[in-house]
Amino acid sequence: MSTPVVLTSSENPLGNLPSLLAIRDLRRRLGRELRGRSVSQDEVVRILQFDPLAVVRGLRAASAPIFGPAVSGWSVRSMASRLGPALSRRLLKTPTFGVAGTTALRRLWLHAIATALAAQDLATQTGLVDPEEAYLLGLLHDLPMWLALVDEQSPKSSRTITPAEWIAHWQLPANLVALFEARSAPPGHASVERPTDATALVFAAELLAELADFGHPDDDLEPDAAGAVLAAADKSDLVAAQKLRRQVEGSLRAFGLDPTLPDVDPDEDHEPRLHAGRQHGELHDVVLSVLGCTRSESYRGIVTALTAAGVRYGGYDRALFVRWDQTSARVLVRSKADSSARRLVTTMLVPTPSEVAAMRQALLEERPIRIGAELGQGEGILAALSTDELLAVPLNRAFETPGFLLLDRSLSAMPILPERDVSMALTLGMTGSLLIENLLLRRRRQRAQKFALTDSLTRLFNRRMGLVTLDQELARCARSEQSMTVLMCDLDHFKQLNDSHGHLQGDLALRATAEVLRQTLRRSDTICRYGGEEFLVVLPDTTADEATVLATRLFTAVQTRGEELGLPVTISIGLTNYRTGDSVESILQRADHALYASKDYGRNRFSVDVEGPDEVVAGVR
Ligand code: GH3
Ligand code: MG
Ligand code: MG
Repeated sequence: MSTPVVLTSSENPLGNLPSLLAIRDLRRRLGRELRGRSVSQDEVVRILQFDPLAVVRGLRAASAPIFGPAVSGWSVRSMASRLGPALSRRLLKTPTFGVAGTTALRRLWLHAIATALAAQDLATQTGLVDPEEAYLLGLLHDLPMWLALVDEQSPKSSRTITPAEWIAHWQLPANLVALFEARSAPPGHASVERPTDATALVFAAELLAELADFGHPDDDLEPDAAGAVLAAADKSDLVAAQKLRRQVEGSLRAFGLDPTLPDVDPDEDHEPRLHAGRQHGELHDVVLSVLGCTRSESYRGIVTALTAAGVRYGGYDRALFVRWDQTSARVLVRSKADSSARRLVTTMLVPTPSEVAAMRQALLEERPIRIGAELGQGEGILAALSTDELLAVPLNRAFETPGFLLLDRSLSAMPILPERDVSMALTLGMTGSLLIENLLLRRRRQRAQKFALTDSLTRLFNRRMGLVTLDQELARCARSEQSMTVLMCDLDHFKQLNDSHGHLQGDLALRATAEVLRQTLRRSDTICRYGGEEFLVVLPDTTADEATVLATRLFTAVQTRGEELGLPVTISIGLTNYRTGDSVESILQRADHALYASKDYGRNRFSVDVEGPDEVVAGVR
């Protein structure tokens, strides 16, 4: 049936094998049919069923190890659903570039469609294999031959690679690989002697396709030989072949394609035109879209904007944000953008030595670097993502675990070209690095500010913050007719408490007092630790009478709390209210004055210095 093919190019043939939909006349017809419509997932599947080359790329992406173990029974439908709607639509958007030798390609394609339809029918009749899976196997059974066809046109390189090596490298589903093995095995080999049900079924379907005149491009039968095949064929086979012929023609017409169509425009340009019609985002669009998240207070927001910009403006299929822990040499996948809802299963990747070298270089030179695959490398980042190349964009290279944006375009079969891709990626990387740096600085400043304004022992505001608040409240009182009261509180005989119970108990008493103050007062009140064992309380919008009630409640609550702790904790309070023309100094001086009155009168009480007959009402209990 088919002889082993040897590829001579080490270029990834998937890149040269874009999609049958890229053949011009096909694309034109489909384009006319689909213009202006958003194609549903069902339609995408239906179209993909006609495009073995796009399906191979899709299968490869869908079975990437990073998304979990491969599913055993693959079909075009399951592949598309694993990819997600947006990504499978992207498979149809392969840029137009003609593939040389299109006549052979076209015959091979008709053979694939015929074999797929026959295999599906046979599977339905026999029940041996799932019909959807049989279709996929029939569609792809000649993949080695497709590769050889493309390789014929590729520039020759010294390395000789067999299709089997490529297929192993692409990690395609096991049932498909078993089929390729059986087809390329020499006669008498075990896999040919005892083929699996699926393999035997595809062999039969292929024979039927040949009978229906959809043979391989290279085995054009001599008229006599054709006669011999026909003579050898059973009558029922001929009927089945005829039915298959009608079926294939019907399917093609359903797509607006004439099965008898002459092969290609003779003047078709066979040179790959990779950049044709490709719209790249202007650099300022990229920057603006990423800068849109400068107000974002989250790291995640920035990363999402970066990955989304990669997909949107760079035309990448997938963008991943990873952190590289250089000590353990592991790469941690933090998020991805690929317009599919697939969840990542593996998030910890171990790069290969050459991947490590590339990432090091990217960090060192602070610029995006293309990471390319080594054939047969079953591990590493590229293998986990099932791709042959990535653009690694370094972010925040000075960080202990620097970040990378990994951009991948394997699904669209668009190669990464440094001269075209690097400027956008560089802009993305620098903007992202600056945004992240900026966010971290803001966070650090906020933390520092908070630290500078609070007291670590009691978690109350410190003296500075207390004075600032008092100043603001005084200004407010001066503007409006509002009232305000200030309390100065001081622990009684605190030195003794420290001496007899120790400093730790002293600290405990301070924290307990702070807690009582916090619980007794309102949220709008400001409490600060004014000195060692002194607390200043600012009560906005509070009259002296109201504050008097509060003060009574305060010193009794502190005493009660002290009793609970088994410590002699009491406080003395000095109370005063706002008077016109007051300054911070004047109001604090009166509060202190009242506090000393409380101390003089025996402590554990409050005294009031209010406007009126300019006297301290002291020793109130
Ligand atoms: P009075 O009733 O007259 O206020 O007497 P007092 O002993 O409380 O007053 P004094 O100002 O003489 O003593 C204050 C003591 O508070 C002295 C200092 O060791 C103690 N102190 C200040 N800050 C802290 C602190 O953070 N922790 C502890 N354990 N003690 C502190
Ligand atoms: Mg004291
Ligand atoms: Mg004191």
